[in-house]
Amino acid sequence: MRRRNYKKYKTARDTQKLKVYRFGWEIESLINDKIETEEECIKFINKAHRWWYTDIENKLAEVPVKFTNGSGGTSWYRPKNNTIYIKRYWGKHKETLLHELTHYIIGRSTRKEFRCDATHGKIFMRIFATLLARFTELSMSQIKSIAKKHKVKMCGLKDSNGKNIRRKLKQS
Ligand SMILES: [Zn+2]
Repeated sequence: MRRRNYKKYKTARDTQKLKVYRFGWEIESLINDKIETEEECIKFINKAHRWWYTDIENKLAEVPVKFTNGSGGTSWYRPKNNTIYIKRYWGKHKETLLHELTHYIIGRSTRKEFRCDATHGKIFMRIFATLLARFTELSMSQIKSIAKKHKVKMCGLKDSNGKNIRRKLKQS
């Protein structure tokens, strides 16, 4: 079911991708971004994941993370097996890890409205920015102004019906 949904919606246009990358590169240059070990990366991802879901009892499953070698390409999230792949040599950055975690969070939702946005849309950006504001030294207002500079669109925490998107994501 989940896979079929993914196939159906993965063709949604990814118009913001490059802008979101540029936004991310600027964020990386402004923060204490580097994480030294793979173990710490996995801890960081899971800490952010549990915070997003306010999982105080640590009941959530560990986020599957794999480290890959090679000089080409970037880090990525693979919806088919819900796994985050991080480049061993240059992927160990908070910004990169939170970007891929955002794909993981939104990619696991079965709701159409989120699956349509699973690439780099406005909802993706809101989740990503919320994580960055919590897990880096930048404030939400700094993050918003960097997003504005790169013309990255971000939705509010509430959707057009006034429902909190974070709560909705938790329920889906
Ligand atoms: Zn991405």
